[in-house]
Amino acid sequence: VILGVGAVIYDGYSDRNPDDQFVPDPEKKTLVILGTGWGSVSLLKKLDTANYNVVVISPRNYFLFTPLLPSCTTGNIEHRSIMEPVRQILRHKKAAVKFYEAEATKIDYERKVIRISDNSDIKGTISETEVPYDMLVIGVGAENATFGIPGVRENSCFLKEIRDAQAIRTKIMDCVETAAFKDQDSSEIDRLLHMVVVGGGPTGVEFAGELRDFFDEDIKKLIPEISPRFKVTLIEALPTVLPMFSKQLIDYTESTFKEEHIEIKTKTMVKKVTDKTVEAQVTNPDGSKSIITIPYGLLVWATGNAVRPLIKDLMSQIPAQRESRRGLAVNEYLVVQGARDIWAVGDCAVAGYAPTAQVAAQEGGFLARLFNNMAKTEEMESRIKELSSNLNLKPGNTAEITAEIESLEKQLRRVKDIKPFNYSHQGSLAYIGSEKAVADIAWLNGNVASGGKLTYLFWRSAYLSMCFSTRNRVLVALDWIKAKLYGRDVSR
Ligand code: NAD
Repeated sequence: VILGVGAVIYDGYSDRNPDDQFVPDPEKKTLVILGTGWGSVSLLKKLDTANYNVVVISPRNYFLFTPLLPSCTTGNIEHRSIMEPVRQILRHKKAAVKFYEAEATKIDYERKVIRISDNSDIKGTISETEVPYDMLVIGVGAENATFGIPGVRENSCFLKEIRDAQAIRTKIMDCVETAAFKDQDSSEIDRLLHMVVVGGGPTGVEFAGELRDFFDEDIKKLIPEISPRFKVTLIEALPTVLPMFSKQLIDYTESTFKEEHIEIKTKTMVKKVTDKTVEAQVTNPDGSKSIITIPYGLLVWATGNAVRPLIKDLMSQIPAQRESRRGLAVNEYLVVQGARDIWAVGDCAVAGYAPTAQVAAQEGGFLARLFNNMAKTEEMESRIKELSSNLNLKPGNTAEITAEIESLEKQLRRVKDIKPFNYSHQGSLAYIGSEKAVADIAWLNGNVASGGKLTYLFWRSAYLSMCFSTRNRVLVALDWIKAKLYGRDVSR
């Protein structure tokens, strides 16, 4: 069924002449959208761009299908298969949209302008400028949380962007080839082949599973002499991994990891990282605490989100935001509290939901409906105004004009009646390795929990159907087939 849904081809709008250029219309408001992640792209997908002068600003000129990012770290999926160029997305919109590949460095809330900086390696004569807005949507996401723990930034790999997945893929093979070097020291082989993942949320769990698969399915065949010494450890500060899943799925994940020889160290909080070791504080069963030192070859840091400096700066400009800690506090219409004409979606917004792709996508869709409605409302209101003045000028047509006004007012009431944003949770999914997945799916008024091989097929079909475009879908499916038939590509 899910595959069937997935087969719906993204057709966008086809009635725009592809040669049309973006020409700002002084009659229309300028709507600036920051970011090209889940929130912003879901908004763009459904927004009627003919109503506004739409400008998109993002340092990334593509949308990234993040749920499959852990699969890119081992080459199970090639990174370009989960990227969709923004310009390709915009090409299909009804009215042309302006895109700037740039980093927003400051939002000047009083002057209603955004300072942007060219983030590419090649700089032209102008590399910094300002973009004014009438309406602003912030969907810039979050950065990796390090909690100020010494050595994390310098020594670990994150798993948020394509370049992170590429860095991990290179580093895994670097560790493997160095471990296989002639006469390599025995303790050094153990260190190099010890892959440590910090953070037992879905990112850490999925990555650990992918890593184990890679070794069991490919490295074992290619470099059998080192394979028995390969080890994966997952470190989590809380008593369990995947706290957002139901108890039975947590237990299932933990027992599956045991079978896969992935060691889980719960109640273990990393306090310090050096270039070769992780220092962590363990809470023992009797409540006492001890410090352990774990040597590693690759360290992946997946401990969740932190607020970006751009957002922190904006929050400092708005008195109503000073109490907020996790991001921009928004109301039930996703309006940034204490600000005029600014909305926020996704991981940079605090709307009372977990920072997931699912939430961001629904928020983006909601804003598209809101903005489409707002434009319709304005159009109707001005038509009513025009008709009302005609009523005085052309007394002969009174009945006809009055009927039109009444009908418009009725429609207006309907259009204006937009319900607040209400997140509908469809469920959570996570891959846990050896072709098994766990799923907590919202069903009627409850939850259905399932784990195993069938759930893995469901996981695959669900993610395939959620890919941005048919092109992405085909590429991902081909990557899976390719990896199955020929193994993952281990070249660096
Ligand atoms: P997370 O916030 O879900 O998990 C991070 C974990 O790191 C926490 O359990 C925390 O206790 C632990 N941690 C923090 N500091 C630590 C330390 N010093 N030592 C040891 N452990 C430490 O992070 P995530 O997995 O990156 O996910 C971020 C968000 O994205 C979440 O809302 C998640 O649900 C969502 N997400 C969902 C999926 C999915 O549904 N498949 C996949 C990826 C992300």
